[in-house]
Amino acid sequence: MLKPMDAEQLREYGHKMVDFIADYYKTIENFPVLSQVEPGYLRNLLPDSAPNQPDSFQHVLDDIQAKILPGVTHWQSPNYFAYHPSNSSVAGFVGEMLSAGLNIVGFSWIASPAATELEMIVLDWLAKMLKLPEDFLSAGQGGGVIQGTASEAVLVVLLAARDKVLRRVGKDALEKLVVYASDQTHSSLQKACQIAGIHPENCRLLKATSSTNYALSPEFLSETISQDLTIGLIPFFLCATVGTTSSTAVDPLLSLGKIAKSNGMWFHVDAAYAGSACVCPEFRHYMDGVEVADSFNMNAHKWFLTNFDCSALWVKDRSALVQALSTNPEYLKNKASQANMVVDYKDWQVPLGRRFRSLKLWMVLRLYGLENLQCYIRNHIKLAKHFENLIAQDPRFEVVTPRIFSLVCFRLLPVRNNESHGNKLNHQLLDAVNSTGSAFISHTVLSGKYILRFAVGAPLTEEKHVNAAWKVLQDKATSLLAESL
Ligand code: PLP
Repeated sequence: MLKPMDAEQLREYGHKMVDFIADYYKTIENFPVLSQVEPGYLRNLLPDSAPNQPDSFQHVLDDIQAKILPGVTHWQSPNYFAYHPSNSSVAGFVGEMLSAGLNIVGFSWIASPAATELEMIVLDWLAKMLKLPEDFLSAGQGGGVIQGTASEAVLVVLLAARDKVLRRVGKDALEKLVVYASDQTHSSLQKACQIAGIHPENCRLLKATSSTNYALSPEFLSETISQDLTIGLIPFFLCATVGTTSSTAVDPLLSLGKIAKSNGMWFHVDAAYAGSACVCPEFRHYMDGVEVADSFNMNAHKWFLTNFDCSALWVKDRSALVQALSTNPEYLKNKASQANMVVDYKDWQVPLGRRFRSLKLWMVLRLYGLENLQCYIRNHIKLAKHFENLIAQDPRFEVVTPRIFSLVCFRLLPVRNNESHGNKLNHQLLDAVNSTGSAFISHTVLSGKYILRFAVGAPLTEEKHVNAAWKVLQDKATSLLAESL
């Protein structure tokens, strides 16, 4: 009989589960990377209602193997090259395990002092690794916080910025507030605007083209702001990206930031994916200009060996977050909070409850150390370069945008320059490769062209996996081209 909690049962089940997971990693290449099931597949495999009587653990594990794993897309597979990576690691896993084991809810300092204090310390460490300006450290007016996702990060800073400007210009001005970003910015900004009540027509997603490698043009931003000012609108928020989702474009932070500052706007930098690379001195320059930013975000859960979820957000003025998001109900009042002696992270985020996520980031930083993390990033970038070289040797393909980090955007060239057929061809190539289950890649559209994305970043990926994926791509391309003749 399984008790609600029992140390010896936890040991027994925990060991079995760790064995199960370790075996999963050992055999991960046997699974199709992209799950090949049809929508609704699970409904037919599981009963209609929960059991009245307890089931055996072994029975559940058998079901996981037979019914759940076929419906899993294996993000940790070395043959996973889609979207952006979402890393797990031994250190991240054991940190996550400890967080689940302690299972505290650290909304205020008093609710678990170590959770708040470790988070502040670990985010200061990471800020120093990224060479963020001192104003982002917790010793001054700023500080870091772990959000669940980059979407939550941009939402909370947008709310902080909105309330800050409304305090200045009056609450009734909401409909005049304008947000700026490039059209390559992640859709989470748009969602944040919807939630924050920004009028959809005041969300300026400025077109970025191949002429700037899909980065936002400062001139275009300046012109648009001037036009908005002349019609009485209030520019208040700029979001720039280091490493866009589609093609890892890098917006010119310094020029953009100066424009934002001279117009009294909040400047947010989204480096969700590429922030990790900036712990390497040779890539840090992509963040130049972050000194003029009000907030900066990177997802340690993407490419930094920290199991999902762990999105690090830093702000220079934490009071702006607190003013937008704090509540102070009687049932949460306590001496330390009332005396303003502590950080209460509930006031820096949307939910009240929060997990002890800093444990896993702390484990990652301690158990790997900066030098290993830098090697890890560099190795993926080397593998992406290798893939780029393979493409260059096959005249049927082209690299579409310059590779900056570990993503290669490429396509099979259209036959007889027929672009619309080219788009169809690349779509077919994507489906053909992914349906083999031996590799998983994803796509985007840039300037009307259907582009394939090859993102290196899974912890187990080695050169042989890149070579194997390239071979599948070439073979499928050969068949498709033969069919289209
Ligand atoms: N920003 C960028 C640049 C991204 O690439 C992504 C996701 O890929 C996001 C934001 C959204 O990330 P999250 O899932 O953490 O909200």
